[in-house]
Amino acid sequence: MIRRVLTYPDPALTVEAAPVASIDGRTVALLDDLAETMYAAPGIGLAATQVGVAERAIVLDVPGEEGKQGTGLLKLVNPTIAAREGIIVWEEGCLSVPDLTATVERARRILLRGWTPEQNEVEIEADGLLAVALQHELDHLDGTLFLDRLSRLKRDLYRKRQQKLARQGRPSGERRTHVL
Ligand SMILES: [Zn+2]
Repeated sequence: MIRRVLTYPDPALTVEAAPVASIDGRTVALLDDLAETMYAAPGIGLAATQVGVAERAIVLDVPGEEGKQGTGLLKLVNPTIAAREGIIVWEEGCLSVPDLTATVERARRILLRGWTPEQNEVEIEADGLLAVALQHELDHLDGTLFLDRLSRLKRDLYRKRQQKLARQGRPSGERRTHVL
């Protein structure tokens, strides 16, 4: 089932999600819905927070860089970052923050631990776009938007522009790549 993706400034996007206590049929259904919603958007990552469910579950399907193979569909429950190193600056977009891309600084490489819907514990070593995408989705689970990582000036400009668009009616058809 495709769910509605909440957009800024919906207060549900600022809620810190709770860990999933046990992976059951409901969790599996939630992850399926997240995947369906992500592909429909389309995006390359989606967190449960973005559909108004305050539970630590995310999905990703990150394309490969420079001809390398992509990740395919990843479904993760209770993901945590065990280690991080380096700095990377990447142009990000977000399904919950329409009409904005901006550069954000994050860790270049991370080691992530989490659980699959089949209740297997997994470890993912990620760098580049995958590392960026995972950190972006984990931010969502903590109630943080990439907007919150920008300067106050950029945030204010975005807020004013969105208010103006809301008054005038939103132009449609703009497509960005790599929205998370
Ligand atoms: Zn996002």
